[in-house]
Amino acid sequence: MRIKHIETFILSDQLSESFFFSQWSYSERQICIVKITTDNGLSGWGEGYGPAPIIEAGIKQLTPILLGQNALEQEKLWFDMYRKTLDFARRGVLVASISALDIALWDLKGKAFGQPVSVLLGGQQRKRIMPYATGLYFSKSDKLASDLAVEAASYVKQGFKAIKMKVGLSIEIDVENIKTVRAMIGKHIKLMVDANHAYSLREAAELSRLIEPYDISWFEEPVSPEFYDQYRQLRSKTSIPIAGGECEYLRFGHHQLLKNESVDILQIDICSAGGLTEAKRVAALASTYGVEIVPHTWGTGIAFHAAMHFIANLEAIPGRLMSPEFYIEYDRTENGIREVLTTPKIEMREGYLKVPTGPGLGIEVNEEAIHQFRKS
Ligand code: CA
Repeated sequence: MRIKHIETFILSDQLSESFFFSQWSYSERQICIVKITTDNGLSGWGEGYGPAPIIEAGIKQLTPILLGQNALEQEKLWFDMYRKTLDFARRGVLVASISALDIALWDLKGKAFGQPVSVLLGGQQRKRIMPYATGLYFSKSDKLASDLAVEAASYVKQGFKAIKMKVGLSIEIDVENIKTVRAMIGKHIKLMVDANHAYSLREAAELSRLIEPYDISWFEEPVSPEFYDQYRQLRSKTSIPIAGGECEYLRFGHHQLLKNESVDILQIDICSAGGLTEAKRVAALASTYGVEIVPHTWGTGIAFHAAMHFIANLEAIPGRLMSPEFYIEYDRTENGIREVLTTPKIEMREGYLKVPTGPGLGIEVNEEAIHQFRKS
């Protein structure tokens, strides 16, 4: 089963209304996806997380390494791509290009064997995953707190049992927003906050102290991702679990967070940190530190399904009769591409998603949607 073609697609969609978080605003969604076709006519799909044109350029750079190779040997191919690029790109967007290709190879392998990726990763440890709604971004509204509360209520109505909101505008505004959202959703819904590394250690500690009464399940990226030691210090100052990792690459980057005791929850992004092949290694590494993984997940159904298979395969540590919940990040902000690119549609039942059972990632990619959103 030799690799015959590798095609990239940059898809983009203008948002009807831009939204922002602590770092910048979004006015369009842009994504790079990749299709690998083999000489027996199978094809697999992958997606990178990061700036789409750079991911595409990276995939074009990596393509000659893969053409003509046996698509089933994805671990060997992963190492070939890594070895031939690490001199100039040990971290960063080129790893997202490797990730996209790696995911496509797993999709292909699943299709070749007629098995879901989660089974090929080693087995489905669970049949259902709890999605948490990612939303509650900022707008220029003069009644932001009550707008956020209304949005939060809509997620509860849809059946979500966990919701994540943005913080990082200012401590005062954050506290007001959290208080209003918590009052609206009641005490039984889990609530997480994400600063996208907007704060200094002093500010993050102050915000943590002020929001502890609102039962926060985790504080994500409180401080800048370079400051491994500040993450550890913050953990010692607050009872709120600390999460991070979406800006890290490869097992080496995630090892920094683990060995520095920086996080309670490790948030690897499969589409940027090295694909499913590397994510599986990071999971093994995290298990040696007893650290929980809830991947960062953004983008289309390709990225989302890759994450579902990965989470389905994660070991519950510690093991016990009544397994803890396993969460998946489910972005609920506007994304026209995500809505139509893949089938079947993601359906939540009683607050849970079923682990996909179809071969490969378990999705079909709608090539007409590609045509509709294609930029290059
Ligand atoms: Ca985040």
